[in-house]
Amino acid sequence: MVRAIVGASFGDEGKGKITDMLAENSDIVVRFQGGSNAGHTIVNGYGKFALHLLPSGVFYDHITNVIGNGVALNIPYLVKEIKSLTDRNVPAPHIYVSDRAQVLMPYHVLLDTYEEERLAGKSFGSTRSGIAPFYSDKYAKIGIQVSELFDDAILREKVERVCELKNVLLEHLYHKPLLDKQELMDELHSYRDMVEPYVCDTSAFLCKALKEGKSILLEGQLGALKDPDHGIYPMVTSSSTLAAYGAIGAGIPPYSITDVTAVVKAYSSAVGAGAFVSEIFGDEAEELRHRGGDGGEYGATTGRPRRVGWLDTVSVRYGCRLQGATEAAFTVLDVLGYLDEIPVCTAYEIDGTRTGDFPATRLLEKAKPVFTKLPGWKCDIRGIKKYEDLPENCRRYIEFVEKEIETPIKLISNGPGRDDIIFR
Ligand code: GDP
Repeated sequence: MVRAIVGASFGDEGKGKITDMLAENSDIVVRFQGGSNAGHTIVNGYGKFALHLLPSGVFYDHITNVIGNGVALNIPYLVKEIKSLTDRNVPAPHIYVSDRAQVLMPYHVLLDTYEEERLAGKSFGSTRSGIAPFYSDKYAKIGIQVSELFDDAILREKVERVCELKNVLLEHLYHKPLLDKQELMDELHSYRDMVEPYVCDTSAFLCKALKEGKSILLEGQLGALKDPDHGIYPMVTSSSTLAAYGAIGAGIPPYSITDVTAVVKAYSSAVGAGAFVSEIFGDEAEELRHRGGDGGEYGATTGRPRRVGWLDTVSVRYGCRLQGATEAAFTVLDVLGYLDEIPVCTAYEIDGTRTGDFPATRLLEKAKPVFTKLPGWKCDIRGIKKYEDLPENCRRYIEFVEKEIETPIKLISNGPGRDDIIFR
């Protein structure tokens, strides 16, 4: 059986924690898209970790962690991240890397950085991890597959083409140092040696595992609203963040994905630019940012303060629909215990018309939030293990949201740790 764990919003919903927790009863955890450009925060017996590229199953000895073909593979980063675990006494994780994954190159990072600098005030707020240039090259067919690292003739030809194209941009658009062919070849050889122990045909491995009845988790990065097709284009990421893409990015049949857990945070947060209808500002925002997540809402990759706002059920309903969510995991609910009243954005007003449908970006930019206020519960709900033991107003909040997002809330997370979970 395959379960996808994906974000219903902009990301940072707490997918890492839910994956780490559900991984316990799984055999394989797969990353199927994105790269090291977003972080998953995991708190467990070994300590607190921010993973960027590794699947969240790396803390369990019985799990095989797969980096699928859809991932933007930064090889030195992978090696560094594995070392950052073993340095802190986590046993060396079991990792397979797809021979069809493509290699994120240093020039992708450089081009991402130069472009953000060039755009200055109009930038995309990229994490400068090279993701957009990486996926552009993949689809322009000048990317380098892991399998190609083992064939020098192919590499030389690729490097030739890459230098021809990139050096025009570097010279004339960005006025920066040019790429050197020999340096790139040396770099690629070092990548080959680093990644070799992990490489295999991961699609074949996963399909065999499915036949053997193994259970697989697909771990999404970011969320539905960052999907290049269905999200807030152009303020999106460059690979699909949807569960459906899990089939492609892992190389498994689409019908093998039977369960889709959409992770929904009890309020909203976002990093980077783009429309964020339920965003709040000033002291109200500062308080939520400070109390939020586990030690405040600051980006796991960049440390940037995240933009925060109240829960937006218009966008979450849309996000759950696009994910094809069979259930929702409602997270970080404990953080809201300080509020007398909790606003929820339940509709948008666009050009004087009220709507519950999430529109395309052009109209979304004009949307004003319509809030419904629910009474707060004014206490700490951490440590509660049974749904019935939650305060009545807290249950009312959950049940209200469940109705609005049209998805059953089966899991409730009331703290950052593995055990802070209520099954419903
Ligand atoms: P991800 O990318 O979706 O995995 O999300 P992040 O890990 O970036 O952000 C979630 C943050 O919330 C992390 O700091 C988690 O440790 C924390 N977190 C997750 N679930 C809960 C929860 O139920 N309560 C609290 N207080 N923090 C949580």
